[in-house]
Amino acid sequence: HNVKKYFPLKKNIFNRNQEFVKAVDGISFFVKEGETLSIVGESGCGKSTTGRVLMKLLEPTEGRIIFEGQDITDLNDDQIRPFRKEFQMIFQDPYASLNPRLTIKEIIEEPLIVHNFSKEKRAERIEGLLEVVGLNKYHSDRYPHEFSGGQRQRIGIARALAVHPKLIIADEPVSALDVSIQSQILNLLKDLQEQYKLTYVFIAHDLSVVEHISDRVGVMYLGRFVELASRDKLFENPLHPYTKALLSAVPIPDPSLKRERIILKGDIPSPANPPLGCTFHTRCPFAQQVCKERVPEFREIEEGRFVACHFAEELDGSLDD
Ligand code: SF4
Ligand code: MG
Repeated sequence: HNVKKYFPLKKNIFNRNQEFVKAVDGISFFVKEGETLSIVGESGCGKSTTGRVLMKLLEPTEGRIIFEGQDITDLNDDQIRPFRKEFQMIFQDPYASLNPRLTIKEIIEEPLIVHNFSKEKRAERIEGLLEVVGLNKYHSDRYPHEFSGGQRQRIGIARALAVHPKLIIADEPVSALDVSIQSQILNLLKDLQEQYKLTYVFIAHDLSVVEHISDRVGVMYLGRFVELASRDKLFENPLHPYTKALLSAVPIPDPSLKRERIILKGDIPSPANPPLGCTFHTRCPFAQQVCKERVPEFREIEEGRFVACHFAEELDGSLDD
């Protein structure tokens, strides 16, 4: 709730007016048990930082993290230990996230040792996990470099599942993979979710990746959510101009359904020095004077659907005809 994560820009203990990069600037959301909430945005928008704050890998500058009704924001290392088991992370780059000196067995065993699984339990669990992710026990004495990118991500998934977590934070788990492999991994994640009743926070920079796995989607721009809605609403009728632009870049299989292509001008401004008013106004094709002056509130336009734009109602495509 109201999570902010600022990184100091200059580390200088004498400088009291320290400048901060507002990587995540006051976002609030919840994730329901068993659902997939996707967080989408361009690189540098704060989505990975959000994932790491949720994982308690980073301390929030402000705001609270609540897990199953319990405020875990200020827990120390010992107190957080039982919770650590409940949330696990899958990383973007399976090449970098697996220790090249460890065998597959050792990689998957690590979290099991940390959480005090007995030796027999560990062996049994490793074999089961390899099978669940589509590998087998003959893979267990090999090293990460002997596997393809897709297989390595399967290993990363096996490691994340090892200690029976409830929540998985997947930070761009398929963006380093070939398109043909991407759908295999997405399908695997979906199957595992059903099988183990997992809850996912799925981070991606591309809306097309999350279309089939999401229940709800949040779109981030410069450290804030600009739109948060059910998957169907967001894809059928995006309200925020930034969502419209992202979606207009997604190819649609049926060519008779034309989507107007919106090309954004310019680059993302630096999060160290975000524009005043609506932070999107420097790139927004619909910007008016008021957008430079007033920050649009992130408001609930209809049940469960939030948008931060002064003109969300006017831009509602479903009211056109
Ligand atoms: Fe664009 Fe203005 Fe809406 Fe911001 S508030 S998204 S600049 S129309
Ligand atoms: Mg990232």
